[in-house]
Amino acid sequence: MPIATVNPVDGETVRTFDALSGDEVERRLALADRTFATYRTTSFAERARLLRAAADLLEKEEAEIGRTMTLEMGKTYAAARAEAAKCVKAMRWYADRAEGLLADEHPEQRDVEDSGARAARVVYRPLGVVLAVMPWNFPLWQVVRFAAPALMAGNVGLLKHASNVPQTALYLGDLFRRAGFPEGAFQTLLVPSSAIEAIPRDPRVKAATLTGSEPAGRSVAAIAGDEIKRTVLELGGSDPYLVLPSADVEAAARTAVTARVQNNGQSCIAAKRFLVHADAYEEFARAFVAGVAALRVGDPMDEHTDVGPLSSEQGRADLEELVDDAVAKGARVLTGGKRPEDRPAGWFYEPTVLADITPEMRIHREETFGPVATLYRFTGLDEGIGLANDTSFGLSSNVWTRDAAEKERCVRDIEAGGVFFNGMTASHPALPFGGVKRSGYGRELAGHGIKEFCNVTTVWEG
Ligand code: NAP
Repeated sequence: MPIATVNPVDGETVRTFDALSGDEVERRLALADRTFATYRTTSFAERARLLRAAADLLEKEEAEIGRTMTLEMGKTYAAARAEAAKCVKAMRWYADRAEGLLADEHPEQRDVEDSGARAARVVYRPLGVVLAVMPWNFPLWQVVRFAAPALMAGNVGLLKHASNVPQTALYLGDLFRRAGFPEGAFQTLLVPSSAIEAIPRDPRVKAATLTGSEPAGRSVAAIAGDEIKRTVLELGGSDPYLVLPSADVEAAARTAVTARVQNNGQSCIAAKRFLVHADAYEEFARAFVAGVAALRVGDPMDEHTDVGPLSSEQGRADLEELVDDAVAKGARVLTGGKRPEDRPAGWFYEPTVLADITPEMRIHREETFGPVATLYRFTGLDEGIGLANDTSFGLSSNVWTRDAAEKERCVRDIEAGGVFFNGMTASHPALPFGGVKRSGYGRELAGHGIKEFCNVTTVWEG
């Protein structure tokens, strides 16, 4: 894929960028390594000062970077601005909390004595240069949720962003530099994915984090594994959205629409499979389909637009294939199911709901990365949880119920990194984020996220 800004609204190439030469990548790697040698010794107060300065800049530039994101990947301008604001919040959260999150830990004295020590403690030290391979769907947020904790822990970052968001990628490198971070603390590398193998192999790079698809995650993790390096993987999701009879079905249906089409349907934690108890099915289906059918598809810069285009022609083709395969095998289209006729240019797709899904359909097993929902009917909680777990993914899950026993069952039995009751999955700096199964491993955000790229060091004194 060329490194370029291509407007998904009309498919026009706005600007192309040359990939960095091998020599330039080497220069930046060396700079990152040198910067780490001193940056690691800075105080939390100094790092927090710099991160707050970055947050202040981003806050001032929210409108401008919002427009860039919308231009590059098609999310609505309102969503882009909200994403920038969320990044500001996360930066300030880590600036305020990192020192406390990484405070030395002291085992119980009886255990210290049992180990034969006079004193013992656990210290969190930074690992070094961390490579971040990031996707286009939340082009600021995915990067900031890595960068804010990593920089506060004393690490330095190298960003390989998705090839279709180069302007956002360059903005990020520039933002941290303008905030006053040392040259080399956070650098953007404009390189194609085909050219990155040497980076996680380089001895100066100590770890890697990747948010993206399963094949990309497998590739980077295999290289890092070969080099015995830590990785965090945030991969795909096909989150279930269970609706049980005690739920407020009207509210469940209303939230379901947003949960599915947020970010033009291109969110890893979007609810994708809607699993509804037979006693609530008719009411839910009616309200949900009406809500999806009422969405306004159009120019993402227009404030009246709910759903913009998909980010790429390939992304739309992949989605169409899944829908067409399902329909050919007997799925029923309750709304949508095709390109909007009034939008011949660009990569638009009608918000879609499909019912009568069977295991033979690809859509039952694969992630739908676009505004397409699948609707299932079940009759008991066992069957509902079985359907929820009938996926290779395990990112998050949503359950609508007012029944305490049902909630406990779901927390015990749903195979996912999150269980959100009576609402939709959303990330927050204070709550760990990540998945199980093929959604990846490791956690971002909260204390868990900042510790992923630390050397957990035991200090023992005899
Ligand atoms: P993708 O193709 O995997 O791209 C993600 C990043 O990986 C890009 O920077 C891409 O660079 C790079 N990449 C691709 N193939 C690579 C390889 N073989 N080796 C090294 N790097 C490689 O992902 P996408 O399809 O654009 O993004 C959507 C996917 O990301 C979905 O599956 C979604 O669920 C997942 N996602 C997960 C989370 C989460 O937190 N779990 C969040 C957001 C998205 P190029 O652009 O240059 O190819």
